Order: sequence, then structure tokens, then C-alpha cells
Amino acid sequence: MTADYLIGEVGRADTLNRRDRAQAIKDAIGIDDVAEALGSRLQPHAEGWLADCPDCKGEVTAKISAHGEHFHCTACRGAGDVIGYVRAARGTGFGEACRWLEGRIEGKAGACDKTGELFG
Ligand SMILES: [Zn+2]
Repeated sequence: MTADYLIGEVGRADTLNRRDRAQAIKDAIGIDDVAEALGSRLQPHAEGWLADCPDCKGEVTAKISAHGEHFHCTACRGAGDVIGYVRAARGTGFGEACRWLEGRIEGKAGACDKTGELFG
């Protein structure tokens, strides 16, 4: 499965149902990539990473799984997938988080969103 294939899947997101759209996003981008794009610190930890929790801003308390599918915060016990991370970090709903992620996946996020503004 190539990156082009994944981008193509997300590009057809408007024809996918909500679950398929979310899955296409989760297949294409990891929480580690998203956290870094949002300005989080990112530290190797065990099999995955430690990053800034989107709720506990300023604390590197979010443990991210090895492939970036899930995170959970050791401080506030918040947890979720890449869409949940973006929703919490940006304070947006599901649809807006999906659009932001799809923009990043397509490499257009720089044009419509500043990076590094949420953490640090
Ligand atoms: Zn937290």
C-alpha cells in the first residue's frame, strides 16, 4: 500500500461514510506526526512516543502507541485516536478535525493553517 494509494483514499473522503473516512485518515497519518505539526514536543518512549497532551497543555504526558494510532494521557487520562487528538488540541468538532487532517495528508495544511501555535 503506497502513500499515493492512501492519499487517493482520503481524496475520495466525501463519498465515504464517516467511519470509512475516519479509517482512511487513521491509516494515512499518525498521532506522532500530528503532534509534531501542532508544535508538541515529541520524545521517544518505550515502543512509541511521549508528546504534549492536547488537554494538559505544557505537560509532556501523552503516551503515543508505536504506530501512532492511539494516545492516552497519564495525567488527565484523556485518550483517543488521531482525530481525537486533533479535536482536543484545536478545540474543534469531528468534521473540522477530519478536514484539517485531510489537508495535512494532502500537504496543503501550510496554506490554510499555521503550525506550532498550540504548544510551546
Ligand atoms: Zn492530559
